[in-house]
Amino acid sequence: MQTKVKMQTQPEAAAKLVYTFGDGAAEGKGALRDLLGGKGANLAEMCALGLPVPPGFTITTEVCTAYYANQRELPEALEAQVDAALSWMESKVNAIFGDAENPLLVSVRSGARASMPGMMDTILNLGLNETTVAALAGNTGNPRFAYDSYRRFIQMYSDVVLGLDHFHFEEMLEEMKRDRNVELDTALTDKDLRELVKLYKEHVQAELGAPFPEEVREQLWGAIRAVLSSWMNPRAQTYRRLHDIPESWGTAVTVQSMVFGNMGEDCCTGVAFTRNPSTGERAYYGEFLINAQGEDVVAGIRTPQPLPEMAAAMPRVYRQLTDVFDRLERHYRDMQDIEFTVQNEKLWMLQTRGGKRTAAAALKIAAEMVGEGLIDRREAVTRIDPLSLDQLLHPTLDPAAAKTVLATGLPASPGAASGRVVFSAEEAERLAGLHEKVILVRIETSPEDIHGMHAAEGILTARGGMTSHAAVVARGMGKPCVSGAGELRIDYHARAFQVGGHIIKENDIITINGSSGEVMLGEVPTIQPSLSGDFEKVMSWADEIRTLKVRANAETPLDAETARRFGAEGIGLCRTEHMFFDADRIIAMREMIVAENVEGRKKALAKLLPMQRRDFAEIFSIMRGLPVTIRLLDPPLHEFLPHTEDEMRQVAKGAGISVESVKQRAAALKESNPMLGHRGCRLGITYPEIYAMQARAIFEAALEADGGQRESVMPEIMIPLIMTAGELEILKALIDKVADEVFAAAGKRLAYLVGTMIELPRAALRAGEIAAHAEFFSFGTNDLTQTTFGISRDDSAPFIDIYKKRGIVEQDPFVSLDIDGVGELIALAAERGRTARPGLKLGICGEHGGDPASIRFCQQAGLNYVSCSPYRVPVARLAAAQAALKSN
Ligand code: ADP
Ligand code: MG
Ligand code: MG
Repeated sequence: MQTKVKMQTQPEAAAKLVYTFGDGAAEGKGALRDLLGGKGANLAEMCALGLPVPPGFTITTEVCTAYYANQRELPEALEAQVDAALSWMESKVNAIFGDAENPLLVSVRSGARASMPGMMDTILNLGLNETTVAALAGNTGNPRFAYDSYRRFIQMYSDVVLGLDHFHFEEMLEEMKRDRNVELDTALTDKDLRELVKLYKEHVQAELGAPFPEEVREQLWGAIRAVLSSWMNPRAQTYRRLHDIPESWGTAVTVQSMVFGNMGEDCCTGVAFTRNPSTGERAYYGEFLINAQGEDVVAGIRTPQPLPEMAAAMPRVYRQLTDVFDRLERHYRDMQDIEFTVQNEKLWMLQTRGGKRTAAAALKIAAEMVGEGLIDRREAVTRIDPLSLDQLLHPTLDPAAAKTVLATGLPASPGAASGRVVFSAEEAERLAGLHEKVILVRIETSPEDIHGMHAAEGILTARGGMTSHAAVVARGMGKPCVSGAGELRIDYHARAFQVGGHIIKENDIITINGSSGEVMLGEVPTIQPSLSGDFEKVMSWADEIRTLKVRANAETPLDAETARRFGAEGIGLCRTEHMFFDADRIIAMREMIVAENVEGRKKALAKLLPMQRRDFAEIFSIMRGLPVTIRLLDPPLHEFLPHTEDEMRQVAKGAGISVESVKQRAAALKESNPMLGHRGCRLGITYPEIYAMQARAIFEAALEADGGQRESVMPEIMIPLIMTAGELEILKALIDKVADEVFAAAGKRLAYLVGTMIELPRAALRAGEIAAHAEFFSFGTNDLTQTTFGISRDDSAPFIDIYKKRGIVEQDPFVSLDIDGVGELIALAAERGRTARPGLKLGICGEHGGDPASIRFCQQAGLNYVSCSPYRVPVARLAAAQAALKSN
């Protein structure tokens, strides 16, 4: 899973390392994004379109790769090519770099293939020194502007190239403003700024023992090197890790002639989106600032004005600007994020790129662009990040609301919820029964808390990661969850937790945001999601395209209904054990477990039979016309055991045995490695009456719920943890026998399938033999990952992050399928299985079923369906469509 960082060696001498642009012509173009970075490529493209772009040149990303491959040496050929490009630029703008009369000033900008906003460095106003600043003051007749540009340059260059803290320069500026009794930078006079420049230079000399560079070529190469080096700064590295941007890509460096938005009141600088990036509405959106340079807008030094006000302030330029917006949108066929500057009422374009947007905006923009004929449906489907749909399916916090953040944990399951704090599943259930909203707060959760989690609005844990039990279950339920909030000191005894200076007691109200990991005091208002017509539209296009079916993992009627509403085409995993944790069922379950013989077990199972039948009948009715895969009992029995004396007495009474026997039985069931112990189909082999009862419940329920014809019930019985064909042969015979009995008694037969999970490496290898007895395979990728890696998921938190950071694994294999290892087993089992039984139905269930990268793999491996939690169904539908488009 490791990415190989492929560093290219020094480009050959003849290689073209520099591409010029400007004045309606460009050596580069948009398609050269890999070589010129997004910024460089789009500047070239805008030039070619005839838009006003200050002339400049871009040094390729290959230079960056060579720089890192050769101990930060620059390729020899670069200097001559930069010189030539610089002369070309000088001729275009009629100014000369470092000239005492008519100096050229430039910006030195970074730009990678993928946009990494603000992660790397940019230097403006480069080429200023004591001589050129005087010339600039004289030529423009505006010394205030000249010295403002100079002090900005010294500040930026000192920070980025010389490594001096930005902060001290800001302080000197603030002190100057205090001293002169002014509030805005713009109120400082040229004399003030001249003095500030002197102070800045003295500071540099004092800090470095060397003067600020006067020589403009030294400035230029210092800046080029600094921009190349900023590719490796910690911000950029973190951003790359979070966004899966390979280190090998490198950044391009663009050197561009300066235009000035800070020359006076007929100048400005701004940022704009061609459509609203948060709603998608088709309206220009942005901000501008009069008499300012680019960085002022982003840095929030002054509050910028909303873009529409430019219509009044500079009507002619505004019209020209909006014409450019429309042209760029038509050209790129996407919403653009644009930087511009106006110098003495002349418009200059400085950047354009595809704008980042919320999921709601992405859907609206894609749907509307199809309507406008800009893109087709297929393209629209590729325009939306499947994972971002999560934002739409869960309530979100009102962004306008005030809040007090108590702690921040992991954003484990998106959405926001408020409620009363409770510390036990029982209390959660009790209060929820009284129609109270609760947040279940636990140090960590276990499967037994499931009813409490179900009752709660949200879940907060002090321990556990993104794949912790609480997180997985919460995502499955579509409930907000913050996990691993380590600052919380939870005291179950005192029924309170402590965090920072606050003590939060049971019944106090908190809010959690599972999208950001924040835990907040009191109730922060949320807004309910409403699925727009655009959502339905784009999803229906996705459904036309995809070939993989999408099912849901669901075990309650509510889950099944949610799954259907979100477009699931069946249930791929119904975990029967979850049904046994309910208050009265757990008692019968426990009686079954502690029973001393088959008779005792059968007696207890007879109590469970009608309950299971009812569950299944309900789910079958909801899912009529669609397949429902039910997995027989899987976890080790000890998970259901009684803990307290009270519970033991209750079970003893029900089972008609002594409390002592209950205790002995509990002790006997204890295992050192339950995950690899007496569980799954091993229970079916040793206690056949359990699976027989479950099979009976399924068939009886199917008969009860069947609607005939198109409304038929389609049960698929799935056996967990098969390792040999022999196990499956025995258990399939058992199930078929029960089916015969039930159908004979009813005088009516129904079609059903018996299949198996493939979740052990041995089963994958011996898939050919196993397929002889299986009508379908469902890859249980959670367990298959655990058993292939030999890692228990619940114990992986302490090291998996370190493995990720050190690049040993690229992704947590429990989040995104390990295609190289686990994937190879799946592909092999699929092939062997289908060779033995052509047309064998194949699917996956488990967390991976909702992960776009894993879905892409399933498409390639030729699986028939993926199954994921109900709230992930839309994500999977869209990801499956994208996978189908990619494989074409
Ligand atoms: P980032 O990628 O962080 O946005 P940029 O390279 O785009 O960095 O530059 C930062 C700011 O400087 C932007 O507002 C940009 O418009 C402005 N800028 C960059 N080059 C020039 C130039 N040649 N003339 C005027 N402003 C510029
Ligand atoms: Mg920019
Ligand atoms: Mg399993």
